[in-house]
Amino acid sequence: MSVTATVSETLYPGYAQTFTVEKVLFEIKTEHQHLQIIETPFMGRVMLLDGVVQTTERDEFIYHEMMVHVPLFAHPNPKRVLIIGGGDGGILREVLKHKNVEHVTQVEIDGSVIDMCKEYFPNHSAGAYDDPRATIVIADGKEFVAQCQDTFDVIIADSTDPIGPAEVLFTADFYKDEKTCLNPGGIMVAQNGVPFMQGQEVTNTFQRLSKLYRDASFYVSPVPTYIGGLMALAWASDDASLRQQSADVIQQRIDRAGFPTRFYNADVHVAAFALPNYIRALMV
Ligand code: SAM
Repeated sequence: MSVTATVSETLYPGYAQTFTVEKVLFEIKTEHQHLQIIETPFMGRVMLLDGVVQTTERDEFIYHEMMVHVPLFAHPNPKRVLIIGGGDGGILREVLKHKNVEHVTQVEIDGSVIDMCKEYFPNHSAGAYDDPRATIVIADGKEFVAQCQDTFDVIIADSTDPIGPAEVLFTADFYKDEKTCLNPGGIMVAQNGVPFMQGQEVTNTFQRLSKLYRDASFYVSPVPTYIGGLMALAWASDDASLRQQSADVIQQRIDRAGFPTRFYNADVHVAAFALPNYIRALMV
């Protein structure tokens, strides 16, 4: 028997999305959050944390390709990558497609998310956790960057929204410590919510990153699961030219990399930096 369940009211009181739930596959209160994995007929398996949809089998490729390939093809030669969060494994899977990446450190606060996603979403990580280039650290991303002696070419924060354990990953202190982990000419990107629904998050992040980086902005992607229109991905670097490269330059890197993508391409890369006026208006 299937039931209809409405989720996401945690994030947007009075506005939510509905799934037909064929089965609750797994549910647990971990030390950090309420983890649920459900089977749905339309989106396939869906993971929720504290009642908020995190990832679905059907559209995860859009989010993960955009979070990873935009910074990794914008950077001329990314060798070392840090992922904060990302417990479903999709970001790690996409990063490891880049053969020039020599090492990836992933810092996830909740080991249960990694374990359960390996079991219920095997195609998200697709064996990435067994890659010898990957090191997994179970820790708070904020504490990790505050103590980290290592440096990286690209840092990707694939976190939950700024409620609960991920709240610290949107603070000025976190961004300051994170920058000390970035090599010169490095790029940081971070999931920053849906601006139509979470406009203040765009303003907060923009103000905090602009104080630290010569170039702070956002790029956008539609992700059907993240309701409310375009999703904003924060972008910061001291090298402003990295955000303004032509489709030809990006295409050459894509050709050299030689792996297929389902959403991302050179034209999408360039277009993603074009921001609608309602988002520009939040960057004050
Ligand atoms: N793609 C989703 C989205 O945009 O809503 C988020 C993906 S989910 C894999 C985010 C992950 O961030 C979760 O596994 C969560 O446990 C992790 N996380 C939350 N706070 C964290 C923290 N302070 N340090 C490290 N990881 C954290």
